Amino acid sequence: MITSITERIEYIEKLFGKGNPTSQSTNIEVYCPFCKDSNPNKKKLAIKIDDFQNHCWVCGWRARNLFSLLLKIGKKQQAIEFSKKFEIQITNIVDHKEAIELPKDFLAIDLEEFSTSKNPMFRNPAKYILNRNITPKRCNQLRMGICPTSFPFHVVIPSYDSQGNLNYFTARNCNTSSKRRYTNCDKSSSEIIFNEIDIVWSKPITIVEGPFDLAKCELDNITCLLGSSLNEQHPLIEKLLLNDSPVIIALDKDATKKTIKICDFLSGLGIDLKIVLPKEQDFGSLTPLENHESITQAIPYTWDVSFKLKTNHVFKF
Ligand SMILES: [Zn+2]
Repeated sequence: MITSITERIEYIEKLFGKGNPTSQSTNIEVYCPFCKDSNPNKKKLAIKIDDFQNHCWVCGWRARNLFSLLLKIGKKQQAIEFSKKFEIQITNIVDHKEAIELPKDFLAIDLEEFSTSKNPMFRNPAKYILNRNITPKRCNQLRMGICPTSFPFHVVIPSYDSQGNLNYFTARNCNTSSKRRYTNCDKSSSEIIFNEIDIVWSKPITIVEGPFDLAKCELDNITCLLGSSLNEQHPLIEKLLLNDSPVIIALDKDATKKTIKICDFLSGLGIDLKIVLPKEQDFGSLTPLENHESITQAIPYTWDVSFKLKTNHVFKF
């Protein structure tokens, strides 16, 4: 559904009150709900009329569409309505602008062949994957590869959006003593959903920390945060709310504070949430079977669980 400029302006003004369109009608400036200026005529929140990107000149708020803005000011229903009304048009605009490509020397990993290769450029990444107990099947499912020239001695994991377009890639250094573990493509990880192509939104979705945690779960319907935090701006939130998807959070034990913050945020949005209680060992050091088991033992995230986590309660397993 394509909406006209007039309809879009009407829509924005219904949400934020009368605004001032700029001379060419590319932007409209409205009263900023974050600044809450005592003068209601101060209109400093600029909204682009074609794709709804918004930015406040005073408080610096910035978002790529109105979904996160509406969610941030507590208007969840309006946020969902916004996405349903405009989602497809906006996605197309964003995808077009931000296309990225895999390095030219990218090669899919053949674990069996590479692990016996005489060339360490091939052998080392394959050995690294095998040492981390990642199966050939999982390696293929995640479309893992190497880039012998551009990222020597790294395992490269690409990510694709729901349309099958590359939206991100990350390269894991196989030299375990190196300080720099990951080198990422030139894009913020908080702007993408890692391998959205594999996600079925109507089923429970497991969220883990990094791409190798994801590789170490023999599970479908799983994504990772790539170190990002979850807030209104993360595209995952929009998808979870639009589809009413149940979520299972399984982050590392050294990230308990972050886990609590994310869980409190998700459950505050009314998302059906379970948590894999942080155990002694990290996700990444468990076998795929152990990870699978711990995910099936996830418990509902209630206020009681939240309280116990915050007070460092020792959970019995
Ligand atoms: Zn503002």
